Amino acid sequence: MAGVIRRLDETVVNRIAAGEVIQRPANAVKEMIENCLDAKSTNIQVTVKDGGLKLLQIQDNGTGIRKEDMEIVCERFTTSKLQTFEDLSSIATYGFRGEALASISHVAHVTITTKTADAKCAYRASYRDGKLKDPPKPCAGNQGTQIVVEDLFYNVSTRRKALKSPGDEYSRIVEVVSRYAIHNSGKSLTVKKQGETVADVRTLPNASVVDNIRSVFGNAVSRELIEVGCEDAKLAFKMNGYISNANYSVKKYVLVLFINHRLVESSALKKAVETVYAAYLPKKTHPFLYLSLEISPQNVDVNVHPTKHEVHFLHEDSVIESIQKHIDSKLLGFNSSRTFFTQTLLPGPLKTSTSSAEPSERVYAHQMVRTDCRSQKLDAFLQPKEKPPPEPEAASVRQAESSPLQQHRGEMEDLEDAEMLEEMLEDVQEAPTQKGQEESSAAAQEVLRKRQRKEEEKKKEEVEAEEEVVEQEEAPRESTPVPRSNGDSHVEVEEKLSLSSEKEVCTEPRPRLCVIQRGPNGYGFNLHSERARPGQYIRAVDEDSPAERAGLQPKDRIVQVNGVSVEGKTHSDVVAAIKAGGRETRLLVVDPDADAFFKKCKVRPTSEHLTGPLPEPVVNGQPEEKVNGRATKNAERDSKLSISPSPSSASSNTSLTTPTANTPPEGFIADTIPALNLTLQQVKELAHQKRSNKRAPPMDWTKKNELFSNL
Ligand code: ADP
Ligand code: MG
Repeated sequence: MAGVIRRLDETVVNRIAAGEVIQRPANAVKEMIENCLDAKSTNIQVTVKDGGLKLLQIQDNGTGIRKEDMEIVCERFTTSKLQTFEDLSSIATYGFRGEALASISHVAHVTITTKTADAKCAYRASYRDGKLKDPPKPCAGNQGTQIVVEDLFYNVSTRRKALKSPGDEYSRIVEVVSRYAIHNSGKSLTVKKQGETVADVRTLPNASVVDNIRSVFGNAVSRELIEVGCEDAKLAFKMNGYISNANYSVKKYVLVLFINHRLVESSALKKAVETVYAAYLPKKTHPFLYLSLEISPQNVDVNVHPTKHEVHFLHEDSVIESIQKHIDSKLLGFNSSRTFFTQTLLPGPLKTSTSSAEPSERVYAHQMVRTDCRSQKLDAFLQPKEKPPPEPEAASVRQAESSPLQQHRGEMEDLEDAEMLEEMLEDVQEAPTQKGQEESSAAAQEVLRKRQRKEEEKKKEEVEAEEEVVEQEEAPRESTPVPRSNGDSHVEVEEKLSLSSEKEVCTEPRPRLCVIQRGPNGYGFNLHSERARPGQYIRAVDEDSPAERAGLQPKDRIVQVNGVSVEGKTHSDVVAAIKAGGRETRLLVVDPDADAFFKKCKVRPTSEHLTGPLPEPVVNGQPEEKVNGRATKNAERDSKLSISPSPSSASSNTSLTTPTANTPPEGFIADTIPALNLTLQQVKELAHQKRSNKRAPPMDWTKKNELFSNL
């Protein structure tokens, strides 16, 4: 049986239409901000409660609404911006359909307080289902309009239920406000939660576009922006904006797109731009773009989507291609003079970094594999500072001479024990020049140093293994933290270098300073709160959060909050310290490697360790000897062998080290490694003795029966 066709009740029609225009609180905010801008406001303040579902309040300082118009302002198709259909082709205002306020009033309680410049006072009126409830009442008020929207979707329960998360809705509102803030530099836009004193986004009237991008998206992106701008008379469009350069890449693609000053989406343009960046950015990372397109109004159809978030324009493909080319040329131009950020390590020769297109990963000394025996390791930086770097010429001459010992240098790196030292010394004997002696001393130091290094690394690995066990007990292990090179951290210690190589490999266990700006959803990290792992430890860092952007990593330990130590503090103390900082927190953190290192040194990491000298590891309560942890053992052995001069006699005549540029400072090597004060002959004897010691102990044949009876 055919159904009966009935005319829908007007309120049902309006409610259905309202549901299309206002799909969620952020749509209402967008419409109302556009109304403020159409009314020439320069100051717009948005206040939100419960993600906009409880309250949305938009206050502006625009032209206001005339008292006479207040009766129909919330009716459908009432507008001050459009009169004939033809006007639509040259519309320069955001609004034109007279639908927004009507739609909102069908799904929420709306109250408007407004004052025009020539009115003696302000007027207030409330609306329901597009209708004025009572005649407007005079009241006090400044010029402009305040619209209060309460209990959004109170009469559309399915929609209300679908919008479960006020937090998510608030983020969307903040996103809309901040995008309009970027596009409307010269005007001040603010968004905050009701009851909060601090706004989540606040732009100032005298701020530039880049300033606004900085205050919304952070420093990391604002300092990597390139200005773009192009025009095509034939296609009747012009474009300008700011795009991130090839140094900047993030997981979330941000394209803030305005077409004829409307915040819109264009998946075609988004894809086209992404293909351009694919040639410059690491895989699976994305750029940031703010583009403002102005297309001749005759070529644009803005009326293709209920929320007007999509527009169509003529010659779309050609316009997109033209934008693509322009962006490519800008990126290419930038790439030829690319700037790399590196972190200065210890005082000493600056390391040049290795070239790689992949994002850099922190590599510690014990994880490094050397492909060139001359390449430096951490130990090289621990050389005495006084040691002047070799003259470039002298260095090349030395290489040309290539003594037998130098030929062995490369092999030396892999020498394992004293037997190899012996072999090397035998070679040295064939060239017993003064220089040879110097070099053999240096080589001997190198071997001894290598041993100590191995021991240190072994201990470190043990510490790490222990930590890992603790972590596995408590939380599933996340992937090894990879510090972000473009976060806000290290700002103070970064040094701009114009190098043609990639980011530097970090070889040092140092603390990091993460300067985190609080976003609409907070900082974006949480702390451990278990007893075994108190509140200083970072449990998780949200993706694309302010914390992640500032370089904070899971498993980091917070050492200081805003310059104040939180060692031994409880979870709630740490949280309180962070909260006390307001909109920004400066966290001095150490990753597990750095933490283990500082614990080993029995030193608390401070901000001075960001760049300053690192402490020495401590063994048995004493600072570990720099060159060789076996120094004491060597001393013991030497005294047993009775071939060493007094360990304290650093200036011994028998010393191999002559006072040349290579001479270590007093008390550094000579004092601690008495074995190095030996003559060649003595070292040889020493090595020989060691080999003899390794022989099997003599058999006590009296115990023969006892031994063999066990077999
Ligand atoms: P439209 O913007 O399409 O005209 P709206 O329903 O958004 O329709 O607004 C209806 C009318 O209300 C607008 O044309 C404008 O005259 C007036 N109006 C709305 N908001 C403001 C405001 N903040 N300041 C001044 N006038 C406003
Ligand atoms: Mg409007």
